[in-house]
Amino acid sequence: MTRVSRRMQRLRFVVRDDDVHYFTRAEHLEAVYGGLWDVVRVSFGVIPFYCRGDAHGAPSWTRNTDEVFALGANDDLVSYLRDKVRMTEVGIALHGYHHRLYRSGPEFAAGEDLARKVQHGRRYLEQLLDADVSVFVPPHNSLSSAGARAVARARMNILLGRGFWLWERPVSLRSAWGFARLASFAALRGVHRRYPVPVDLGTHREAPCYSLTPRVSPADIAAAFQWALGRKAAYFCLATHYFELLQHPTLLAAYRDFLISVRDEFADRVSFVTAEELFRSRSV
Ligand SMILES: [Zn+2]
Repeated sequence: MTRVSRRMQRLRFVVRDDDVHYFTRAEHLEAVYGGLWDVVRVSFGVIPFYCRGDAHGAPSWTRNTDEVFALGANDDLVSYLRDKVRMTEVGIALHGYHHRLYRSGPEFAAGEDLARKVQHGRRYLEQLLDADVSVFVPPHNSLSSAGARAVARARMNILLGRGFWLWERPVSLRSAWGFARLASFAALRGVHRRYPVPVDLGTHREAPCYSLTPRVSPADIAAAFQWALGRKAAYFCLATHYFELLQHPTLLAAYRDFLISVRDEFADRVSFVTAEELFRSRSV
């Protein structure tokens, strides 16, 4: 019975695009997704209070000042995102708080006061963008045990990179089981494949993503997608950075072509969903 329902289940395709912050312009996002809004739904990883970070698209001088750049001060971007959320074309995920990079590591691996930052950052984005924000995207895909506890306490789910190490999550039977599943999968399938269903850690769920960067071949992403489809994976999450795509026009063109080809060739087997919708479904 399980096998039958799994076979009929559509693959949920999540587009994750990180580093939307005060310095982002709506034109940046339109340059990547303009003309695709009837094809995909995009989950933006949004930084509520950018400060001393290393996010794509932020001027380098901001690394040397303690000035905080709140998303809400960019009226045009806020208005654009609110419209897109209202039209259900865009989902909002919390991508850190400051996106600060410490000497000892990224914000949610090395920073402090993380529980408050998750709660406040989430509430701020929900009110500012009139959106439900229930998914957390760790800056640099990096999350300590304390960071994971802060996110779980807020009852948020997580999009991450390849997976996590045992010591990067609060100790529990569920986290040990989740780690064992990811580790045995990696040993069997290699580092270029992602676990095909979100991992349930009891307090929350985590979904590994494929990253498209200038160092990754779009052909490898297409092969991973075909593999996921063939394996009847529950989902496929593709993570990228709009700003990096804009700096690499060939990559941007390949990215757009790929999304359109998924829509055109697999419309009967694939649904584009936001990250929030992915986790809302209990069947994945
Ligand atoms: Zn980031």
